[in-house]
Amino acid sequence: MLRSVAIDTVIGTDPLPTLIAGERSNSASGALIESINPATGEVIARFPRCDATDVDAAVRAGERALPEWAASPPGVRAKALYRLANTIEARGEELAAIDVADNGSPIKEMRNDSRIAAEWIRYQANLSLSVRGETIPVAHDRLDYTLRQPWGVVGRIVPFNHPLMFATAKIAAPLVAGNTVIVKPSEHTSLSILALVDDLREIFPPGVVNVITGFGSEAGDALVAHPGVRRIAFTGHADTGRAIQRRAAEVAVKTVTLELGGKNPIVVFEDADLESAVAGALRGMNFTWQGQSCGSTSRLIVNEAIHEELVDELAERMEGLRSGMPDREDTDTGAIVNVQQLDKVRKYIEIGHGEGAKLLAGGGPPDDPELAGGNFIRPTLFDDVEPGGRLAQEEIFGPVLAVMTFRDYDHALEIANSVRFGLTASVFTSDLRTAHRFARDVEAGYVWVNDSSRHFTGTPFGGFKDSGIGREEDLEELLSYTQVKNVNVLLG
Ligand code: NAD
Repeated sequence: MLRSVAIDTVIGTDPLPTLIAGERSNSASGALIESINPATGEVIARFPRCDATDVDAAVRAGERALPEWAASPPGVRAKALYRLANTIEARGEELAAIDVADNGSPIKEMRNDSRIAAEWIRYQANLSLSVRGETIPVAHDRLDYTLRQPWGVVGRIVPFNHPLMFATAKIAAPLVAGNTVIVKPSEHTSLSILALVDDLREIFPPGVVNVITGFGSEAGDALVAHPGVRRIAFTGHADTGRAIQRRAAEVAVKTVTLELGGKNPIVVFEDADLESAVAGALRGMNFTWQGQSCGSTSRLIVNEAIHEELVDELAERMEGLRSGMPDREDTDTGAIVNVQQLDKVRKYIEIGHGEGAKLLAGGGPPDDPELAGGNFIRPTLFDDVEPGGRLAQEEIFGPVLAVMTFRDYDHALEIANSVRFGLTASVFTSDLRTAHRFARDVEAGYVWVNDSSRHFTGTPFGGFKDSGIGREEDLEELLSYTQVKNVNVLLG
């Protein structure tokens, strides 16, 4: 039984309230969404299914709270963010347990998410005095300077794969910059941010942070289409990102930044250290989140001379990963977030077979009766994948790794750049020139050399091509929540 004391504390409130205008709220319609534990199929909580009426109430609250919040000293806003980080850290174990039950990823990883959330929030709070303008020496008798001012009410829409981490860390930058925020978690994983509603009420003045739960097509759409929300930041699927751009443009000129999907290459040259390349390929797939990561290096492009040795070792290591109940400390890979996503993964496994790829590991559910009631699928390795086929071109967002071979540098680069995405890339080589050439030539926003998957606070993360617009986790993220005003003063 996955239910822990922590979960019982949260679902003790039924339905869980959301947060609008500083009040614990239900949706105006009274409609609810059920949260299902992906490892067991059981309903663990119910929460508000918000719609346009609730979004409007949240926007009005954000507008009312804005003047005072924006005018408060940066240190005051930073202090509130530090309190949020401290709270997340203090309640880290409990919040991780909630994410485990709601999202299906192993406890080890979800614990790490609460740690990272606190770190990212503190990082943005530390930057509060970096929201500054400049003076521009246009002429002797003039003073020219710029101001960075908040947009107003910011809509922050986040996906399911890191529920707590995204719903909390990604509101830090807009708040530090003086905006008020409406955060919209995924309808599949809303519980951990709802577990923080009372803390948010205590830390922030009413209306500064609002939480809108609900479906993307209702609550999400209403947020994007609300004329009072001029700045939207979205993390999620590339198709949703494009739909949001279109929808926003129907209403007004809005500033939309997008952190979208990937089909990221990991390229292994003949001179690479094989052991670290295998470890890098394993880590890069993020099997610890069942492959459900935008940054997963899900295309392994390997030199034909070392291909066999590498895939044999990799297949063996993948077979050794332990599928298990996500609340167990020894579980390496847990449950897929929901049945639709599981079906999508299964569909791509069929596509792989249909395209003639060779299955080397996984390909089906784990052989463990305890896991039969949940959305489990083994880490899957396909070899001899056709670079132009669907298995190689489309984001699966699941534990499926596609292997392709290359002859020389140009061939490797051609395959690496052949997809519509450009989020991350990884290269393994012992030749400095090859490493830097590849880093220069690959179409991706974040490149690892002889490593994979790891994020470093303060370094810009974001995508080329269909993987997005804008950068996050750095100073640029904070500044993107301000608009620049130029002031020109005639002194004479
Ligand atoms: P999704 O696009 O289905 O949903 C993301 C969020 O958008 C959810 O809160 C959802 O309710 C909302 N939404 C859906 N339709 C909407 C609409 N029409 N208008 C407004 N909001 C809407 O994505 P998902 O399945 O939750 O997450 C997986 C995707 O997220 C993958 O493609 C993954 O690569 C991407 N992702 C990207 C990053 C990154 O940093 N680049 C990080 C994590 C996940």
